[in-house]
Amino acid sequence: MEDADVIVVGAGLAGLAATVQLQAAGLRVVLVEAADGVGGRVRTDEMDGFLLDRGFQVLLPAYPEVRRLLDLDRLRLQPFTRGVIAGGNELSLDDLTGPARFAVRRPGDALAVAAMSLRDVLLPGRRLRTAPPKSTERELRRWRISEQTVDEIFRPFLGGVFLDPELTTSSRLFHLIWRCFLRGGAAVPANGMRALPQALADLVADDALRLNTHVESVSPGTVETSSGTLTARAVVVATDGTTAAGLVPQLTEPTWNAVTTWYFAAPESPLRRPILLLDGDLNTVVMSEVAPTYAPPGQALISASIPTTQQADVRPRLERLYGTSTAGWDLIAEYQIPHALPRMTSDHLFTSPAKTAPGLYVAGDHRDTSSIQGALVSGRRVAAAVTTDLRRRKS
Ligand SMILES: Cc1cc2nc3c(=O)[nH]c(=O)nc-3n(C[C@H](O)[C@H](O)[C@H](O)COP(=O)(O)OP(=O)(O)OC[C@H]3O[C@@H](n4cnc5c(N)ncnc54)[C@H](O)[C@@H]3O)c2cc1C
Repeated sequence: MEDADVIVVGAGLAGLAATVQLQAAGLRVVLVEAADGVGGRVRTDEMDGFLLDRGFQVLLPAYPEVRRLLDLDRLRLQPFTRGVIAGGNELSLDDLTGPARFAVRRPGDALAVAAMSLRDVLLPGRRLRTAPPKSTERELRRWRISEQTVDEIFRPFLGGVFLDPELTTSSRLFHLIWRCFLRGGAAVPANGMRALPQALADLVADDALRLNTHVESVSPGTVETSSGTLTARAVVVATDGTTAAGLVPQLTEPTWNAVTTWYFAAPESPLRRPILLLDGDLNTVVMSEVAPTYAPPGQALISASIPTTQQADVRPRLERLYGTSTAGWDLIAEYQIPHALPRMTSDHLFTSPAKTAPGLYVAGDHRDTSSIQGALVSGRRVAAAVTTDLRRRKS
């Protein structure tokens, strides 16, 4: 007899979502993870009372799949201000008065941003997903948003979201994410972004998870791991796209967008607001203003990120942005993440097949969209495909 009905490889959000839904369908699952904890790219380190997410990241509470799977109240979400400060000016997304206030400087752009935003909030998601493919840069210009506003606000903001300052990312993905920002803003759980995978892991049966177990190869029905061979009726590869392409030859390795995040501890907060500040390719926020739990009492935690892994001296830029010296700030951590987000240009297929061969399935953000939402949806899709096939084989 096999070790399980299904073996899921990788306990990131996709693998966890798949496992939870396969178990709910009554299947015996073994979830194999190479690392010492769950979460994949969504993990949080604790250091001297600071919570450090592995790279600056946020949850959009309006993500439909997050709402479907998780009890948001239990995550104790701490919201960011709904807007950004760029070039010293604030673009508020609270309501349409935000663009209206922005209009004092550029009335045409304010109208264009408001029209685009209204459309994105109201149009069914399916229509946004099937719009003609183009890059985000072209799309913003199609809405007649000036080059100056694109460079001052959208390029730095989206450069931080997609880690792609060139704005080559699919405009479909842009509209879907923009809509979620408008509908629900951004937040982090009080206990760090790790709370998200942990909430899913809490739903996984105790004996299903095998940490510190590296998968070396897979074939339909068999998984070779660092601690021996496992057999099952179906195998789901829910690793990052590069590892998946190594394990399943039919897959193409994605190209990646990178990021570096620096965390500074400061004796006091340089800005008493939970708002993102943008300056070219740099984004920064006082995390302890967003979530006081991110720093020990009497200290502030500042994050700063740039979409590259090349060395950069961000201090002079932070001093300009916050209008204060950083001499008393301690650099407490630096996260360089070359494989942060699979690049999704305009020709990206939003829904790649979950099944690659009889008995062999794939999930992960690279199969849907490079986001928390995409990873969770891919987990649900793969669980549905496996469940249907196994039931069919039984009958
Ligand atoms: C710095 C950063 C910021 C981000 N910001 C946001 C954001 O603000 N909003 C948003 O929506 N998304 C954001 N994302 C993207 C989002 O985190 C990912 O899209 C999502 O977490 C991917 O989940 P996944 O399960 O597909 O893959 P992963 O998280 O990569 O999980 C794959 C798992 O497989 C395991 N694994 C790999 N190889 C093996 C092997 N051989 N054997 C066993 N296990 C293996 C890995 O250890 C890992 O746990 C960000 C990502 C990063 C890195």
